[in-house]
Amino acid sequence: MTAAYDPDNIFAKILRGEIPSFRLYEDDDTYAFMDIMPRADGHCLVIPKTPCRNVLDATPAQLAAVMKTVQIMSHAVMKAFEAGGVTLQQFNEAVGGQEVFHLHVHVLPRHEGVALRPPGKMADMDVLKAQAERIRAALA
Ligand code: AMP
Repeated sequence: MTAAYDPDNIFAKILRGEIPSFRLYEDDDTYAFMDIMPRADGHCLVIPKTPCRNVLDATPAQLAAVMKTVQIMSHAVMKAFEAGGVTLQQFNEAVGGQEVFHLHVHVLPRHEGVALRPPGKMADMDVLKAQAERIRAALA
């Protein structure tokens, strides 16, 4: 059984505007922003605006809304970073590699011969800001 949703998780705080994020895109149901420990240039995250921990407790409507935005963001990062492809990552529960318990999909632009960086290294905020501007321009 899946644990209860914690409304004080960090992405819920981002949605409520209690902590900052580099906003890229939003619609009625989803929000996309930069990952602050990017494993590739342009690494961003897509989350539903309504609460759910992960795929295990999400509704089909939440999953559909998130994947619609994942596709939009995949096209945007491909264009912004002239990428050759995109890797999507999505983790469920701690055993599945999840660290933040609000459903999210990682969108990672990829380039030939460039490996993903190891997780856990904080980005330079000026670099992240500039990358966010590139992605927003690609969405425009
Ligand atoms: P995971 O739950 O394993 O998919 O990992 C959570 C992801 O959220 C990691 O890639 C972190 O770098 C990212 N992350 C954690 N806190 C923040 C934050 N405040 N803003 C943006 N990304 C974050």
